[in-house]
Amino acid sequence: MKKRMAMRCLCRPAVALCCLLSLLIVPGCGQDAENTVTPEVVTTASGIEMVVIPAGSFEMGSKNGPADETPAHTVQLSSFWMDRYEVTQDEFKKHQLPDPSHFKDPRHPLDQINWTDAALYCNERSLAEGLEPCYDEETWECNYDATGYRLPTEAEWEYACRAGTDTTYSFGRSASKLPAHAWFADNAAQTTRPVGQKKPNLWGLYDMHGNVSEWCNDRYAEDYYATSPARDPRGPAQGPERVLRGGAWNSSAESCRCSYRASDPSVNDTCLASDAIGFRCVRNAPARASQKKDTTAMESETTTPKTGFVYHDIFLDHKTTEGHPESPQRLTAIVRRLEETGLHGELLHLPVTPVAAKWLHTIHTPAYVQRVKRSCDEGDAYLDSLDVPISRKSYEAALMAAGGVLSAVDAVVHGEIRNAFCAVRPPGHHALSDQAMGFCIFNNVAIAARYAQQEHGLSKVLIVDWDVHHGNATQAAFYDDPTVLYFSVHQWPFYPGSGAEGETGSGDGRGLTINVPLPAGSGDREYLDAFENKLRPAALDFQPDFVLVSAGFDAHERDTLGSMRVTTAGFGRLTQIVKQIAEQCCDGRLVSVLEGGYGLEAQAAAVEAHLRVLMES
Ligand SMILES: [Zn+2]
Repeated sequence: MKKRMAMRCLCRPAVALCCLLSLLIVPGCGQDAENTVTPEVVTTASGIEMVVIPAGSFEMGSKNGPADETPAHTVQLSSFWMDRYEVTQDEFKKHQLPDPSHFKDPRHPLDQINWTDAALYCNERSLAEGLEPCYDEETWECNYDATGYRLPTEAEWEYACRAGTDTTYSFGRSASKLPAHAWFADNAAQTTRPVGQKKPNLWGLYDMHGNVSEWCNDRYAEDYYATSPARDPRGPAQGPERVLRGGAWNSSAESCRCSYRASDPSVNDTCLASDAIGFRCVRNAPARASQKKDTTAMESETTTPKTGFVYHDIFLDHKTTEGHPESPQRLTAIVRRLEETGLHGELLHLPVTPVAAKWLHTIHTPAYVQRVKRSCDEGDAYLDSLDVPISRKSYEAALMAAGGVLSAVDAVVHGEIRNAFCAVRPPGHHALSDQAMGFCIFNNVAIAARYAQQEHGLSKVLIVDWDVHHGNATQAAFYDDPTVLYFSVHQWPFYPGSGAEGETGSGDGRGLTINVPLPAGSGDREYLDAFENKLRPAALDFQPDFVLVSAGFDAHERDTLGSMRVTTAGFGRLTQIVKQIAEQCCDGRLVSVLEGGYGLEAQAAAVEAHLRVLMES
């Protein structure tokens, strides 16, 4: 690119003259834009600042410029978000991607990055935030409808660079002010520079001119403008090279112009990439952002939380033994994380009341319920076995945990919210009808399934259990029941010992228990394979009326009990699949309930990724 850009600018001595001519014949066109507009900046889940770019139209290309910039033509674009800065080496490495940069410095933009690795970064960043990746990692085709990050189209890039101006540069026609806005050949001293040091453009974007040239998603064709569509153009379908925009530390002022087009063949080979190529990401503006300026009715609709949240301080009063992994800190870490990320305020907080005996008895025997109450009242240290430490408030907490989940079922069925996550404890999926097991007292999810059926008349319920342990009690509750499909993926062999592949249900329920035991060390690939190839077809065949998730996060790679390797982003992807199933089968009705998860920060991060997917519109 370095060579190519230098070559192209050398062979364009006439361009400056053309600009001068157009300056003379288009009065006002050369006025410098000094007034700044306050940009609308959002900070993403991973802490990256993005500018909300409004929908609108602009004139793309240049009237009298080089052949590949003509004809100038009006382009209409939908709203999108664009990174405020070029992607830095520091941000890139956060996603465990090897940094190819020549000018190594965490604050500098990435350089020497090939197009495919830039697209890969977009996918990794999407996954880390629980968004749907845009790129197919085999074909590298871009799904423009996905919610995740991608490279900008060439039109998006130029529109954002111009920031409402129609001049040669975003700050005016003359290059005399370029040193204030850009690191380029005249002032960069032969190297990249930390991002964000020069003046931003009118929309608050930094380094759109200079520092590193930026990859666009589009393939390059010199004559593309002659035939490109007027709305959201996305480049030619074929072509060996991808577009670069903006100029770099080694570029002439000419190559830093808003409409200047370059291209480069280093699509998937780092060796080919020059040390002057970087990129920034965009994503489609979420519906909320693009509709914000519409009618007030629309506004109130879009600000209504669509995801519910169940939590109550009583859950912290269920005390286990000192140093026990199933601790109150599990929930405080989750709540803290949601507060820090701002998600807490975006959720509909649901009321929590104790579960009525009627519903408790759909799963547990009255004698067992009485035994739980008595053990707690008498101050016993354990319930049934050393496996279930308790405290005086454990009974009350367990009633509230189950009751909170039923509250979430109500809110979803009544359409107050679309889905919900219940941060409850004690957990439930090992709790048998008459026996506590594995940190569990009442089987919250199993009770909720019966409640959805009996209280709300929903006939078929899907329970997806991705806790690292097999949900033996949930399986047992519905083993011969044709109205409940129980799907569990878990580490095996492992506690509690059940969940072999051959356990598939009995009687009328035969085939409606699906166990996917996986060896220790399994990760995203194995889990996604199970979800795509076993869960999805079975669920679509079953057509549930309601979906419950036994959401344990102890299969996380940083969990302290499990030995699996599911990543935070992996939990986002599992959530996406289950959410899609709910959307296809039952208007998105889904309630997710915390089970295990013992790495405090790992679990909190995974819950955040899970919620972000649930909250997407
Ligand atoms: Zn577990």
